[in-house]
Amino acid sequence: MKLAERVQALTPSSTLAITAKAKALKQEGHDVIGLGAGEPDFNTPEHILDAAKKAMDEGKTKYTPSGGMVELKQAIQAKFKRDQQLSFKESEVIVTIGAKHALYTLFQVLLNPGDEVIVPAPFWVSYPEQIKLAQGKPVVIEAKESNEFKLTPDQIEAAITDKTKAIILNSPSNPTGVIYSRDELQAIGDVCLRHNILIVSDEIYEKLIYGDVEHTSIAQLSEDLKNQTVIINGVSKSHSMTGWRIGYAAGNEAIIKAMTNLASHSTSNPTSIAQYAALEAYSSSEEEVETMKKAFEERLNKLYEWVTDLPGVSCVKPKGAFYLFPNVKEAATNCGFNNVDDWVKALLEEEKVALVPGSGFGADENVRLSYATSLDQLEEAAKRIKRFIANHT
Ligand code: PLP
Repeated sequence: MKLAERVQALTPSSTLAITAKAKALKQEGHDVIGLGAGEPDFNTPEHILDAAKKAMDEGKTKYTPSGGMVELKQAIQAKFKRDQQLSFKESEVIVTIGAKHALYTLFQVLLNPGDEVIVPAPFWVSYPEQIKLAQGKPVVIEAKESNEFKLTPDQIEAAITDKTKAIILNSPSNPTGVIYSRDELQAIGDVCLRHNILIVSDEIYEKLIYGDVEHTSIAQLSEDLKNQTVIINGVSKSHSMTGWRIGYAAGNEAIIKAMTNLASHSTSNPTSIAQYAALEAYSSSEEEVETMKKAFEERLNKLYEWVTDLPGVSCVKPKGAFYLFPNVKEAATNCGFNNVDDWVKALLEEEKVALVPGSGFGADENVRLSYATSLDQLEEAAKRIKRFIANHT
């Protein structure tokens, strides 16, 4: 059976490929350190588990409205007010099956064939694929490492055509951990307003930011920018709830309505029990979120030191998320490899350390290391990488 062209054009996830290889080596009995994880290594907080159990015991196991339970939407509205001083109406919020499906649904309702979406590289692997699945065209612009992986307004201006419909902003970013400042967002926002381009603001790592940096959503900067933005967020990273699959989108009523219509014919609704768990997450204190954040920050600071100490490796210091995205081109060349992908493969085979090559994120000189694992494991990984480089130079 010949499959549809749209799935033939899909690029397999580079994150999953390396994870599968690492898993296979582990099954063979090797002591593999996996730094590929895209999820926090902490358990979902106990009181959230209890809320889900209670929902089950009370028989809350039936269909819910397609766009999510009213109580959860209200909790999300309250979160927007509390954290970002943003007012959304209930009709401007949709609960989805993870942030990933919020993005997928958004592109499906937004794009006509050939419509362009500006995607800053390095990018999260699913953006270009989801845009292609909606018959849109991802227009990838390289955010230069020398500019801390941040896109400039001039770069955006130069990429705009009469087909440009939207731009993705992901701050803090996966994979670079970069965070745009208020002023930088304002300058980008001005360009988007001038050209009437929708801003898709993926804020899934909003809660994981370090040092004295503050998170700003571009939608907070003015009413005009709020109207021009769809915010994507969810509980996966903030509350260590990746498996529960609860995310949401907030923005223009007509867009949210179209997304809800599409959901009603594709998914019906996010799992009822998971929605009760997310309701608890947004209705209670953020003590555990803070604890996780502190642990991540300690790891970031240590890992950053270890990694930048490696010969031929440089790194823009991330300010958020839980990834480091060092440039290892020089190390790979000094080790005698033609490209970073081969260096990563050899590192896994010889030292059993699994990193994700940057090529999947649109940055082929870099690698992504997730620090969603213990400090001991991170220290051991750094030692092994150091030994690997030494053995090859
Ligand atoms: N956006 C970014 C930038 C991500 O890194 C991820 C997950 O890795 C998602 C969205 C999807 O999150 P969720 O698990 O809520 O679907």
